[in-house]
Amino acid sequence: MAREYGTENWIEWCPGCGNFGIVSSLYRAFSELEMEPEKTVLVSGIGCSGKMPHYVDVSGVHTLHGRAIPFASGVKMANPDLDVIVNGGDGDLLGIGAGHFVALGRRNLDVLVMMHDNRVYGLTKGQASPTLPRETQTKALDSPNIQDALEPLPLALISGYTHLSRSFAMDSDHLKEMIKKGIEHDGAAFLDVLQPCVTYNDIHTSEYFKERIEKLNDWDPEKDKNEVYEKLDRETDKILTGEIYKDTDKPSFSERLSEGYKEKSPSQRPIEEDGAPILDKEKFVSKFEEFVVEPEL
Ligand code: SF4
Repeated sequence: MAREYGTENWIEWCPGCGNFGIVSSLYRAFSELEMEPEKTVLVSGIGCSGKMPHYVDVSGVHTLHGRAIPFASGVKMANPDLDVIVNGGDGDLLGIGAGHFVALGRRNLDVLVMMHDNRVYGLTKGQASPTLPRETQTKALDSPNIQDALEPLPLALISGYTHLSRSFAMDSDHLKEMIKKGIEHDGAAFLDVLQPCVTYNDIHTSEYFKERIEKLNDWDPEKDKNEVYEKLDRETDKILTGEIYKDTDKPSFSERLSEGYKEKSPSQRPIEEDGAPILDKEKFVSKFEEFVVEPEL
């Protein structure tokens, strides 16, 4: 039952916010995949999207601004048996966190990154985020945006992500399917979620997206990167949604590290033997002593 994944916490998003569509789609996807709460980890940064781990009854970490991806990477590397999902805003992931966003693609680490793409910094009162097009003036801006927008999907493609998709927060059936595909993919997956911010973005509204969305039917995502790039580049008034790219040949990061990493990952290593911790205390302490500097009196 999807509602089993809800928590008792009061949801603090504005009425009508697209985040409600995202959280309910997550519940449904988790329910259909029968995700185990102990083995599922949601990691978020700062922003309206950052509240997600409080509302989903799985393991979760609400961490620092822009740092959800490195935190999630640490969780996945320590225990590759976990399903790790990042929820971040466009400002969080592509502003302060842009370097980490690119690095995850290069590593092809098996993590799903869901970007709540509302084109503004909602939590801090509607400033322009990295996905707001130049010359656009949303209601909280006193003049049109003078910076160019980043295109998240082409950026993810050239960074090395091996699964790309896009969906719409207000189309729960479609979004649920894209979440499931991203979770099931073995490698770095990126899901761009078009999410209306009803309070601060009066231009990219639900109606705006509904008029432009074109679902990718009859599109085989296992294509050459150049072909995918050209398809995205040809987007004009239309916004393509669906499973856009999939590469199942590229080895994931844990496969690249060493053969058998998953069996010998930190979570699989014993930490005690016969009731005693496996730790050479003298060797451990001597490592620190190397760095001790005696003060000159
Ligand atoms: Fe949603 Fe925008 Fe309100 Fe944040 S400010 S909760 S993104 S409507």
